[in-house]
Amino acid sequence: MAQKFQNFINGEWKDAKSGQTFENRNPANWDEVIGTFPKSAEEDVNEAVAAAKAAWEEWRLTPAPKRGDILKKVGDLMVERKEELAREMTREMGKVLAETRGDVQEGIDTAYYAASEGRRLFSYTAPSELPNKFAMAIRTPIGVAGIVTPWNFPMAIPTWKIFPALVCGNCVVFKPASDTPKTATSLVQILHDAGVPKGVVNIVHGGGGAVGMKIVEHPDVALISFTGSSGVGKTIAQSCGKTLKRVSLELGGKNAQVVMDDANLDLALDGVLWGAFGTTGQRCTATSRLILHEKIHDKFVDMLVKRTEKLRLGDGLEKGVEVGPCVNEGQLNTDHEYVEIGKAEGAKLMCGGERATEGDLKKGWFYKPTIFTNVKPGMRIEQEEIFGPVLSVIKVKNFDEAIEVLNDTVYGLSSSVYTRNVNDSFRAIRDIKAGITYINAPTIGAEAHLPFGGVKETGNGHREGGWAVYDFFSELKTVYVDYSDKLQRAQIDNY
Ligand code: NAP
Ligand code: MG
Repeated sequence: MAQKFQNFINGEWKDAKSGQTFENRNPANWDEVIGTFPKSAEEDVNEAVAAAKAAWEEWRLTPAPKRGDILKKVGDLMVERKEELAREMTREMGKVLAETRGDVQEGIDTAYYAASEGRRLFSYTAPSELPNKFAMAIRTPIGVAGIVTPWNFPMAIPTWKIFPALVCGNCVVFKPASDTPKTATSLVQILHDAGVPKGVVNIVHGGGGAVGMKIVEHPDVALISFTGSSGVGKTIAQSCGKTLKRVSLELGGKNAQVVMDDANLDLALDGVLWGAFGTTGQRCTATSRLILHEKIHDKFVDMLVKRTEKLRLGDGLEKGVEVGPCVNEGQLNTDHEYVEIGKAEGAKLMCGGERATEGDLKKGWFYKPTIFTNVKPGMRIEQEEIFGPVLSVIKVKNFDEAIEVLNDTVYGLSSSVYTRNVNDSFRAIRDIKAGITYINAPTIGAEAHLPFGGVKETGNGHREGGWAVYDFFSELKTVYVDYSDKLQRAQIDNY
């Protein structure tokens, strides 16, 4: 019998009111069921929101340093349970153990940052233009935060949202991706074990429409923080637009790595292998385009294909495995459809391009790391997010063309340039339209204490991470205290 997991609402573990469940399986071995989870609906969301709303009255008045103390404990528990959390994450979504350990570590880093932020949450004082008058803007909690997250960073992304939300004094209703409910459940257990009061954090499992959208639409949910695809993000933004609900969107990417003719090619090679095929290409910051200067194009492609063909696919829990499976059958099929599209568009398939089925691989959703050359700007494989181990190589004549090609997509999350030319590096930093630019490092590798997010259809201008996310999860209240004992009129009495 598969282990049964539950929602967590108002401090209690409970089934969906309907009693319905869904299964979570291991993408490296589809026969292995990790557990069943509640297939919740609007009634469960309503209960969770009501619990969060009620809990907020006390939580908002709990001093922020005290809230931070709980987050410190959360970080400590994550350190204790790191290995167990990483292993269960690999089992439920496939990425290799080194990466799932990193995912948990990012959560730990975020917890300790949040803990110390409880003693900062800096806001502003400014001098008043009038005598005997005091002016300041203070951070205030907002209310119930709805948190909807994807499966590719099943620990890190929820922590990026939930921890700052809590430190700022908000309560949480959390719907994780259906592909990674176990990691999310473990996170909520940790929050509970660390002493988060009942009702302050609630998790409701289930589908995007049945649960996610009901959270988004709920009138008592004051703000929404969403990470996922641009398509779903637009739907959420439209819904939030109706009541002008505060919403933060972190969405898709079509990130490129540029390699100039003066670059350290070995370094650039390690970078693109990690960027394109780490997490099986299923990162919002994955390198899905490689823009090569024509002078080094043929040599670099040759080096790259040789190394790519040697990458070891398999169960991410096994030693030596470099590339895990796709998260599910749907994603595997999407990858293959894009390979067919690429061929039809006239790109040249250099390696991969098919499912991997040798030995045990046939039990999971494995796809061979794939490289296309002769990709032209504007092709669908060059423009659309694939979210799999498929890399498109584009040849350019010079630096200006490289930046033009890099910028020519609707997305703008991460970007990377390999060059030893300091002038080109700074021009890249200035001219690339993206939320993140790396010089001589791959498109992946964000650190928890710096702002994270993108431009254009990658987001709506907010940032997660570091100090920036605290602006999203708190509302400024401007306060004037006049101690002059008379009516003082701003802009008038002094001029
Ligand atoms: P997704 O399909 O958009 O799903 C994300 C979350 O939204 C899941 O919890 C999903 O639930 C839920 N959802 C689906 N439809 C919904 C709806 N109509 N209303 C409310 N919620 C809904 O994305 P994904 O496949 O999980 O993740 C991959 C995408 O996320 C990629 O586009 C990737 O680039 C993006 N991503 C972006 C960042 C970033 O920070 N910019 C980071 C990671 C990933 P179910 O799981 O139940 O369907
Ligand atoms: Mg799974």
